[in-house]
Amino acid sequence: MIALQGLTPERLAASIPALSLPEARRVVSAVHRGWNFDGPIRDLRRGSLDALRARAGFPPFTLLEARASAIDPFVKFLFRTSDGRLVEAVRIPLEVPGRFSACVSSQVGCALACAFCATGRLGLGRNLEAWEIVEQARAVRLGLDRSKGERLRGVVFQGMGEPLDNLDAVLEAIAVLAHPCALAVDARAITVSTAGLPDGIRRLGREARKVRLALSIGSADREKRLRLMPVERAHSLEEVLEACVEHARTTGYRPMWAYTLLEGVNDGEEDARALADLAVSFAASAGIPPRISLLAYNAIDEPGRDPFRRSSPERETAFRDALRAAGVFTKRRYSGGSDVGAACGQLAASASRD
Ligand code: SF4
Repeated sequence: MIALQGLTPERLAASIPALSLPEARRVVSAVHRGWNFDGPIRDLRRGSLDALRARAGFPPFTLLEARASAIDPFVKFLFRTSDGRLVEAVRIPLEVPGRFSACVSSQVGCALACAFCATGRLGLGRNLEAWEIVEQARAVRLGLDRSKGERLRGVVFQGMGEPLDNLDAVLEAIAVLAHPCALAVDARAITVSTAGLPDGIRRLGREARKVRLALSIGSADREKRLRLMPVERAHSLEEVLEACVEHARTTGYRPMWAYTLLEGVNDGEEDARALADLAVSFAASAGIPPRISLLAYNAIDEPGRDPFRRSSPERETAFRDALRAAGVFTKRRYSGGSDVGAACGQLAASASRD
């Protein structure tokens, strides 16, 4: 069955030749306004509707629960796929009141095993299909109160999985998310976050030029990064940053560098200086500096069993000051919903339910 949730009009018309492109546009618009074969669609010929009914439908992607954080306006969504896998997404409030972003998963689990990430402990279950990615954003949007002016304004691929490890589906999903007949999210408000797969970074820059890139740094020191992010063994940070330079030149966008501060591991002054050196050399090569976001670590295990600790405010300030002294400025990114396991690094649906 062709999943109607995950197609642009162009792909729908190509998949079902009985449909003209204008008809496919009307169908996709109707689908994303909630149509479910439950009524007529204006100017859709009878034969086209019959062909659609015979070939396409809405495979199930069941919302099991939406858990609102008690400490901030984040909401975690838990879904079950048709083959019984569990997947999570998060509704993130943006700075402008009433505007939200959907943090979506691209895989069930993840093969990359970053040490500070709960998803990395699961291993890879399977890739999600494009429509399963789109469904997460659709569910977040459906939960908004449009009468109060609430709108979905962005999508970040920062949930479960490494999106560049499932790039065909991610690119298809982006096309639907950004299509004016579908979710109409401005492509410039879509961010793909990677642990560092150079070929994927280059392809993303070529095929989705308006989409932004975020890179998880872990540490600027190779030995430390290797311990935190095993992907470093296959693709060194140096090689990854070469791809990021190309991406920045192709798209004209500054990449976001995400750096999770781990007490006593990567939050010393020498770590800050190494990160500053990396940022300065990146800016010299790419012609634009990275935007560096410092993230507080969110626990992934019980107290006493968790492998890391969040950096103290004093160490965080010293780290930030050391970067500033080198002329490199940072932002602190707030990652909310930690009480419902929705914060960065905490998504691990399968582990908690299996
Ligand atoms: S941080 Fe991202 S790439 Fe690393 S294990 Fe977690 S989901 Fe995978």
